[in-house]
Amino acid sequence: MGTPNKMDELIICSHCDLLLKRPALNHQEIARCPRCQSVLRDRPKSSLPYSLSFSVACLFLMACALYFPILAIEKAGTSHIMYLFQASWGFLEHGYPLLFTIVSSVLFVVPVLILLILIYLLFPMLILKRVWPASLLLSKVLFQLKAWSMIDVFLIATLASLTKLTSIANIEFGLGLWAYLLFAIFLAAALANLNSARFWDYLEKVQCHCKIKQQHHKV
Ligand SMILES: [Zn+2]
Repeated sequence: MGTPNKMDELIICSHCDLLLKRPALNHQEIARCPRCQSVLRDRPKSSLPYSLSFSVACLFLMACALYFPILAIEKAGTSHIMYLFQASWGFLEHGYPLLFTIVSSVLFVVPVLILLILIYLLFPMLILKRVWPASLLLSKVLFQLKAWSMIDVFLIATLASLTKLTSIANIEFGLGLWAYLLFAIFLAAALANLNSARFWDYLEKVQCHCKIKQQHHKV
């Protein structure tokens, strides 16, 4: 774990590059740059607990999306039921391994990985007031993955192609699709509430608390 040094106490205004001492904020306080007045840090009251709640709800919705069919397609008297996992599996069956990898990454692998890491980090931090092993490394992975979450783009593309399909076949949307739509909205909400400055501040605070506690136990 990094030891605090002088550089950790400084921040740079992203608009005018002014170097400033890191402000300590209380609930719902906002720090502005004295030179250009742009927002340096804000501290919304419960952004991290919201992020954790949305993440837990997301896992439940993903389970529903995988369990229930997403579509029922009826054409020329025959009907097919389609599940979410088949959306990417079809590419592999038709000899497109690269598309299979991309689609399954965007559909499940990256979102589920983000959610599991989020819960692994936030649950002990917020509820148990401690950090679990490898939290620092996983936090860095989380913010890298966050930039790669493109589920909203994918969802719009899917809905656009579905509306085209309705003109050639009779399509009924299943419970799985509604669960997946809600999942995408909740995932966006979980990530929107994950303020990186607030997250790193809180992680540092909990680590400090843990160190003080350990020292008390040793004495
Ligand atoms: Zn500034």
